[in-house]
Amino acid sequence: MELNKLDINRTKTLIDAAKTISIVTHFNPDADGVGSSVALYHFLKRQNKDVQVVMPNPFPSFIDSFVKDVDMIYASKETKKARVRLMESDIIFGIDFNMVHRVGNHIKDALAESCAAKIYIDHHQEPDLACETMFSFPDACSASEVLAHLLIAISPDAIDKTIADAIYIGLCTDTGSFSYNCNNAETYSLVAYLVSKGVCVDEVHQEIYSTFSENRLRLLGYAISEKLKVFPQYGAAYICLSKEELRQYDFQPGDTEGLVNYCLNLKDINFGCLVTEREKIVRLSFRSKKNTIDTNKFARTYWNGGGHIMASGGTFQGKLQPVINNLEAQIKHLKDFSQQSE
Ligand code: 5GP
Ligand code: MN
Repeated sequence: MELNKLDINRTKTLIDAAKTISIVTHFNPDADGVGSSVALYHFLKRQNKDVQVVMPNPFPSFIDSFVKDVDMIYASKETKKARVRLMESDIIFGIDFNMVHRVGNHIKDALAESCAAKIYIDHHQEPDLACETMFSFPDACSASEVLAHLLIAISPDAIDKTIADAIYIGLCTDTGSFSYNCNNAETYSLVAYLVSKGVCVDEVHQEIYSTFSENRLRLLGYAISEKLKVFPQYGAAYICLSKEELRQYDFQPGDTEGLVNYCLNLKDINFGCLVTEREKIVRLSFRSKKNTIDTNKFARTYWNGGGHIMASGGTFQGKLQPVINNLEAQIKHLKDFSQQSE
């Protein structure tokens, strides 16, 4: 990964001159967004900056132990404070998203309107962001990977165990424990470097993958045994969970993390989808196997969303049934999104 030297120098100069710095990631933050925000937070804090993470809404509890001693506000709870913070910042770092609306309704206007210098660090397709500087690498396995290269370029000695752990959780979760999007030797050199800085891989994986609540594990079992719908003729499968079903299993943020991937465990199934009904919207997650379906294009075309080729998401404002009807109709035309058809 070759970061532009001018961009690195500009970022360094901006940081040196800044007093107040904010860090923001996408709504419904995942371990890549949170991990990279936390890593950057500690990096800047050690340079005695007034730095704060503006988190759009709460993140899954399996990340909790990696978020210690971080000055953080939740925009969903302290909206005014979050907006003022963004408006008054000298720099805003935006991590792990490619469009302003991805930070959510509470702060998207403040992010767009703030006069702060904006520096984006991302790995999604087709970024559409007005900014001072952008480190956008759609081939990177995670935003955390991009951030790691930036931090090492700015100050190689600054990576300690706390920062290394936070970067590592982004790398390991965005690659499904190094099973996709990570066929790059450079990623493993970075992992080796992070381990040399104190990351204990066993402990991190235990914390992330072996801390399910009983409800979460039972929801997973229910979803696979009762709710998986397979369309062998189209190479597709999906799981749909209603608000009521989620309530029965006392759904908490992060409880459906990874669930969509089970669709792809099936032989000859190349496209998987998870549909979850939330308070007023329906969320969709799409996944595909390598060199099959372009889910970014699918999500952009049909579901006002986007992401990566093999992992993307979208949203629908309304009820569940029309989503299912539309999705099943679209599955019949998946061929239009096959990468070979490009
Ligand atoms: P997930 O299915 O885990 O929510 O999201 C998969 C990937 O797609 C993530 O990298 C996420 O950031 C991205 N993504 C999810 N929803 C959207 C969306 O509505 N718009 C865009 N542009 N990206 C999304
Ligand atoms: Mn990511």
